[in-house]
Amino acid sequence: MTKVAIIGAGPSGLAQLRAFESAQKKGEKIPEVVCFEKQEDWGGLWNYSWRTGTDEYGEPVHCSMYRYLWSNGPKECLEFSDYSFDEHFGKPIGSYPPREVILDYIRGRLAKSDFKKQVRFRTSVRWVSYNKDSKLFTVSVEDLVKKETYSEDFDYVVCASGHFSTPNVPEFEGLSTFGGRVMHAHDFRDALEFKNKDILIVGTSYSSEDIASQCYKYGCKSITISHRTAPMNYHWPDRITQSPLLVKADPDNTVHFKDGSKKKVDAIILCTGYLHHFPFLEEELKLKTSNLLWPLNLYKGIFWESNPKMMYLGMQDQFYTFNMFDAQAWYARDYILGKISLPAKEEMTKNSLEWKKREDALQDDEQKIWFQGDYTKELIEATDYPNFDIEGVNKTFMEWEHHKHEDIMTFRNNSYKSLITGKKSPLHHTVWLDELDDSMKAYIK
Ligand code: FAD
Ligand code: NAP
Ligand code: MG
Repeated sequence: MTKVAIIGAGPSGLAQLRAFESAQKKGEKIPEVVCFEKQEDWGGLWNYSWRTGTDEYGEPVHCSMYRYLWSNGPKECLEFSDYSFDEHFGKPIGSYPPREVILDYIRGRLAKSDFKKQVRFRTSVRWVSYNKDSKLFTVSVEDLVKKETYSEDFDYVVCASGHFSTPNVPEFEGLSTFGGRVMHAHDFRDALEFKNKDILIVGTSYSSEDIASQCYKYGCKSITISHRTAPMNYHWPDRITQSPLLVKADPDNTVHFKDGSKKKVDAIILCTGYLHHFPFLEEELKLKTSNLLWPLNLYKGIFWESNPKMMYLGMQDQFYTFNMFDAQAWYARDYILGKISLPAKEEMTKNSLEWKKREDALQDDEQKIWFQGDYTKELIEATDYPNFDIEGVNKTFMEWEHHKHEDIMTFRNNSYKSLITGKKSPLHHTVWLDELDDSMKAYIK
């Protein structure tokens, strides 16, 4: 029997399980599917852990999320088209749910299936290699609980291990003797640690924006955001200011910026992004890329061009998330089931380079959103993943961008129309800045 290995049971790996479940429900014969997940439960990054560094088994902690994290985009932009938020919660809810609510939704879609049996939890993938003679992949894993290593052969491998977990940590002069705390966003857990403190954030993307906003909300005295390329174009409240790039940090807690200005801070939080990191993949199978909308060598953003039986899900930079992972998973499934055939390698590479060229010409976030929408649409049109209004999602993203630029502290108080049910979500009962409790109980009440 054909065997498929899935690496990781985050939103992407779960999309792959769901895709197979859906085919099975329609009476199709599906291959044997085994999903390896190093955490104790499914949900990927959404599965919060207080731990930082290594876990109780000595594994790098996957979690990059933190307490009080709310969705940073409208939930209407990531809604599964085969499982709406209304169906899951049994009632309409607001548009920017906190982490626990999103996790519940992700898990809920597969809760009634017996696919959980196909996931080997607390099992870390150690090495994947391809044997040209047998045409099989050998996947070596460690059962962390039993401390046993074993190998199994598979016809296909779907790598869904995520790429926002291994921090990119640049060096700055003086960090090793800086008087305060230095950390990366990956290890940030609780904004209350910085209540009444002066902090410096380096970087200007989503982690920077959200950790700055969090720290403001939970009572930080001042937040300085340092940029390498350009400052963020938002109307920041009084306690948040922007500075050029950090050049040096002193033992007396002074930090110096490129324009000669300086400031004393208690802590430096490096919001400098993440690395695509696959220490478990042999060289011939390993994707090497920075955080892009179109990583190279992946046909349709999925298939490893020099050996398409090796697939990757969710490796793009992300405006679209869950529904894009679904689109990829359904497409990968139909390739495995023999319903979609792939062209010759030269053709695949040619196609990828066309997308790449298009990405290189994109000017702003709005264009990037339409690009990722077009990509998702192309995939969905080729499979039976229930169609949804991608143009409507793009337009919701445009509204979201507009709301953020109106006021970065209030954008989460808006609500949007579901493109799956057609219903507009209610306004949440409490405005984001005043709601300090991020529990599901508080949100759903
Ligand atoms: P992940 O969620 O990273 O899951 C990968 C899984 O693979 C993990 O469970 C991990 O344990 C497992 N794994 C990794 N290596 C191995 C191994 N060797 N062996 C076995 N298992 C392994 N997206 C949104 O849509 N909205 C948001 O508000 C949002 N907020 C975010 C906030 C933060 C701080 C970060 C970092 C990301 C956020 N994202 C958000 C984007 C996020 O990437 C996606 O929502 C989603 O979690 C990606 O799913 P994934 O399955 O591809 O990867
Ligand atoms: P990112 O989008 O890849 O951004 C990396 C940032 O680091 C960029 O601003 C980059 O600056 C900067 N940087 C990298 N190297 C640097 C250096 N040597 N010196 C100075 N700056 C440097 O990473 P991210 O912001 O961590 O976001 C990752 C993902 O997490 C996103 O998908 C995001 O949506 C998600 N997220 C969501 C939430 C939420 O609210 N739910 C919160 C946090 C993160 P340049 O522009 O100069 O390159
Ligand atoms: Mg379709």
